[in-house]
Amino acid sequence: MSHPSLQDRVTRLDNARWHGGPFTKPRTMIVMHINDGDTFASSIEYLNTTTDKKASYHYGIEKDGRILRMTDSGIIAWHAGDSAWPNPVRATAGNPDRPNGGASVNDHAFGFCWASRGEAPTDAQLESAFWLCDFFMGLHGIALDMVRGHDEVAPGRKQDPLPAIDMNEFRALLATYRTLA
Ligand SMILES: [Zn+2]
Repeated sequence: MSHPSLQDRVTRLDNARWHGGPFTKPRTMIVMHINDGDTFASSIEYLNTTTDKKASYHYGIEKDGRILRMTDSGIIAWHAGDSAWPNPVRATAGNPDRPNGGASVNDHAFGFCWASRGEAPTDAQLESAFWLCDFFMGLHGIALDMVRGHDEVAPGRKQDPLPAIDMNEFRALLATYRTLA
């Protein structure tokens, strides 16, 4: 099912400074994030001008639902860092940064990010996230169970997209959306 009105919201910037090469593995996963900012454009500006943090996302979703493509979906974005799924190793005080030995889901996962400082996504942001997830799930055969939060693939190290949204809640809403789409 196409949603032209949503598709019109997408702006292809493809201007990530930090990213990997083309995907060589099947893309079987979507990881959801929040940026701890008021806009996603501010994250692009920050990440593309700092050398302190080498990171990128595929898509960011502004509060009004506009979608910004930061990294082409054929290219590996650097969003999840040390991570694994299933069975990620939880970060501890003794091993806070690389509990999974530096492995990352980035080589087979898309990274989507809501603009949020922790407040719940707006209805427009949720709708755009449903649409994006539905599109890529359909295109790559990604299972609902493989739409995960950063907190789930990097437990103990990352908390996002909490406190904005619990991923169990998001998956339930996404499942309903997909039956209606
Ligand atoms: Zn994150």
